Amino acid sequence: MTVRTRADLDALPSYVPGKTVPGAIKLASNEVSAGPLPSVVRAVAEAATAMNRYPDTGCAELVDRLADRLGVPAGQVATGSGSVTLCQQLIQATCADGDEVLFPWRSFEAYPLLTHVVGAAQVRVPVTAGHALDLDAMAAAITPRTRLVFVCNPNNPTGTAVRSGELEEFVAKVPDDVLVVVDEAYKEFVDDPHVPDGVEFAKTQWARGRENVAVLRTFSKAYGLAGLRVGYAVASEPVVETLRKVYVPFAVNSLAQVAAIASLDAEDELMERCRAIVAERGRVRGALLGLGFDVPESQANFVWLPLGERTLEFNDHCLAHKVVVRAFAGDGARVTIGEPDENDAFLAAAEAWSAQ
Ligand code: PMP
Repeated sequence: MTVRTRADLDALPSYVPGKTVPGAIKLASNEVSAGPLPSVVRAVAEAATAMNRYPDTGCAELVDRLADRLGVPAGQVATGSGSVTLCQQLIQATCADGDEVLFPWRSFEAYPLLTHVVGAAQVRVPVTAGHALDLDAMAAAITPRTRLVFVCNPNNPTGTAVRSGELEEFVAKVPDDVLVVVDEAYKEFVDDPHVPDGVEFAKTQWARGRENVAVLRTFSKAYGLAGLRVGYAVASEPVVETLRKVYVPFAVNSLAQVAAIASLDAEDELMERCRAIVAERGRVRGALLGLGFDVPESQANFVWLPLGERTLEFNDHCLAHKVVVRAFAGDGARVTIGEPDENDAFLAAAEAWSAQ
């Protein structure tokens, strides 16, 4: 007899991660191409000697460090096995069957999947013709069933970012019992001074008694720890308390905790790397625009090429040039900014494409 599983999951596509192709350059998962810092590797190696023990399930040391750095009480920080886990926990913490999760589309692929798995309903609001979040349309799409709204800033995969005034205006329109989750996975690559720091913005809301703004960040991108899985949420204390009720015990392993702390110790060095990536982003976008591609301005460590029906063809073309990009069929390709030589290889492929 076959095990009876949830029938609604049969048709649900699984999350499709960026591919790794042997011998090809991977610009498909928004990772940092440079390897981990020696100081972080050393800290992890040392911690490995105690891996027969369970980790601290509450990540107390890491939480304290983050709280200190962000200027919030420790009770306002929760960690997770990557921020994607926190996305799921936030939906679980706010939604029962049929409640709605609102998010821009296209945006982070996990939002619709996690929403469905939790049993909530998805409300997707298309991005504008300029590939930016349509906050007016998102505000208009809120219903009495809306429990959570994702504002992905900068947005994955379009790279566009919401500015301070826009965010403030939007949040003012959201009922204060609906959680607004500002997903800042790519925050460290923002160089537009008009793009808000979500935590600072959230503090202004909390100070006004509006507890419904939460911020997600991750060590996977700018901090180069994608393989270790650690992210965090900064939210009001009641939200963090509820998050702790839905968490999976020991989700953040001991090596990840140590690596995250060592990365905070090496923050200057890591942020220097981010600045180099931002400079490369400008170079890559400029070259692509010069080749005739439409490329929205990006505030993240990737660029978006809205190639529509030609997306898969472009994907195959890049693969033939040994560069792996991330294709979203019928919509566009997202290309991570890598090291200069990797970006050169991608630009050579792009040049060959536009010369066809
Ligand atoms: N949010 C966004 C917008 C992302 O793009 C990603 C990763 N692709 C995540 C969250 C999750 O990252 P992680 O789980 O590695 O922290």
